[in-house]
Amino acid sequence: MDIIKHKHDAIVIGAGGSGLRATMGISQSNHSVACISKVFPTRSHTVAAQGGISGALGNMGEDDWRWHMYDTVKGSDWLGDQDSIEYMCKNAVESIIELEHFGVPFSRTEEGKIYQRPFGGMTTEYGKGIAQRTCAAADRTGHAILHTLYTQSLKNNVDFYIEYFVIDLVFEEEKCVGVLAWCLDDGSIHLFQAHIVILATGGHGRTYLSSTSAHTCTGDGNGMVLRAGLPLMDMEFIQFHPTGIYGAGCLITEGARGEGGYLTNSEGERFMPKYAPNAKDLASRDVVSRAIQMEVNAGRGVGPEKDHALLHLEHLDDKVIHDKLPGITETAKIFSGVDATKEPIPVIPTVHYNMGGTPTNHYTEVISSGDGSTVEGLMALGEGACVSVHGANRLGSNSLLDLIVFGKSAAERACELLDKKTKNHPDIKNSTLDNIVTSFDRIRNSSGDISTAELREKMQKTMQRYAPVYRDEETLNKGIEIMKGLFKDFNNISVTDKSLIWNTDLVETLELNNLLYQAMAT
Ligand code: FAD
Repeated sequence: MDIIKHKHDAIVIGAGGSGLRATMGISQSNHSVACISKVFPTRSHTVAAQGGISGALGNMGEDDWRWHMYDTVKGSDWLGDQDSIEYMCKNAVESIIELEHFGVPFSRTEEGKIYQRPFGGMTTEYGKGIAQRTCAAADRTGHAILHTLYTQSLKNNVDFYIEYFVIDLVFEEEKCVGVLAWCLDDGSIHLFQAHIVILATGGHGRTYLSSTSAHTCTGDGNGMVLRAGLPLMDMEFIQFHPTGIYGAGCLITEGARGEGGYLTNSEGERFMPKYAPNAKDLASRDVVSRAIQMEVNAGRGVGPEKDHALLHLEHLDDKVIHDKLPGITETAKIFSGVDATKEPIPVIPTVHYNMGGTPTNHYTEVISSGDGSTVEGLMALGEGACVSVHGANRLGSNSLLDLIVFGKSAAERACELLDKKTKNHPDIKNSTLDNIVTSFDRIRNSSGDISTAELREKMQKTMQRYAPVYRDEETLNKGIEIMKGLFKDFNNISVTDKSLIWNTDLVETLELNNLLYQAMAT
């Protein structure tokens, strides 16, 4: 197979919020950077982020980064890395003002400041009051941020390789020296050599059947990391968002409860004050998800199956709904046939976020072991990484912040490391590339008995049933046994389309391979 070769100082895999922030940062230096993405950059999953980005700007009431830090440590169930959390919360205000200056069209207060809404678990004075800390561009904040970062990167002449699927990382003598990628458009195979490879490939929500994430959220970078013999961290920490639309899984942002929405059970009871007397419907996501599940378990679920709850927005002023929540009213209409200004939306806890991933320090350098040693040439950030700012539970609006703060940190660190490196790229042994191409070709030419869609559905149903909101030893052990069988079944997969041009069958099979690795790790 002919391999087309490219050389850059740094390459970023992923053009979501994290990847673009890192790319843009490096592009402002004298080092060359390329960004590779399997989807068009502005179709990356970050575009779906609705509610906003947190930061103690104090535009709508007193606020302090220390209160933000306290909430994040508490929200993480005390399992987050407190040094990283301090770094993120302290740098939040500056990073958001920077976004404003890059051109993000935030919603505004009467005085023209960035509008901030309340979000679950965000408090003032260490838990005493409710903070308005989440900066929003209506309910399309991710869309606004992603488009701004993409246009800023274009302005800086970044080399984008769009609709290129990265197959695997390339290592020489334990250093990451590049990636091998497949161009979906013309079927060519490319070697991208770089002194620094930054993984920003997003979460792996699609290991589960009901998920708010896009079908492209298959955590490919984490699959590559495992295949390279490196560890992942905190993979069991999966966040269930309390308000996924019943049946479809699409998200109704927490911003809806921030603007005054509330939940009821089949008896019409507003049940959250029972579980969280202070924060009520704005308690953190794990608390609200568990409360819905407890109501369902107690027989107070809504609908013929008594298996979900109702989210009420119909009491809110039409202007609030139209100005602050236009996207979710459209989503409710399309995916549950409900006019949210007139009737409640049926909701159910749905897989929403992966707290675990590739372990890093706060410079986003990948860590290879418990003593903190780093992997030369490899960095990771965003939802696919685990700098451990979210511990066991992420607070709403802290992910966009994580992307931006650590995207900036990644760019700064990469430039610092590149300043010290020689500009020469090492020779890469043919055998290193042969191994990756052989495994790619084996998958492409597989003609077993089980289709990709069939195996994926089995995996997703197993994860949904055996690693749910509530877990115990017996169900987990059962799930592990089934997953071991499904992992082996990948050897018996069937790929019907053998071509290399726009072969979505093969793309989905490579993604499934990555998902299976991560499901096993979970
Ligand atoms: P993504 O945006 O998922 O980008 C991944 C990138 O990697 C893509 O460009 C993709 O093409 C590329 N890629 C992946 N694999 C490969 C491969 N093999 N080869 C080449 N390229 C590859 N968080 C908040 O803080 N506030 C919110 O309001 C909010 N709302 C949300 C709403 C929804 C519906 C959901 C599901 C999540 C929300 N989140 C929110 C979470 C947040 O949006 C995500 O955690 C975040 O956007 C992830 O960004 P990322 O940069 O890590 O990855």
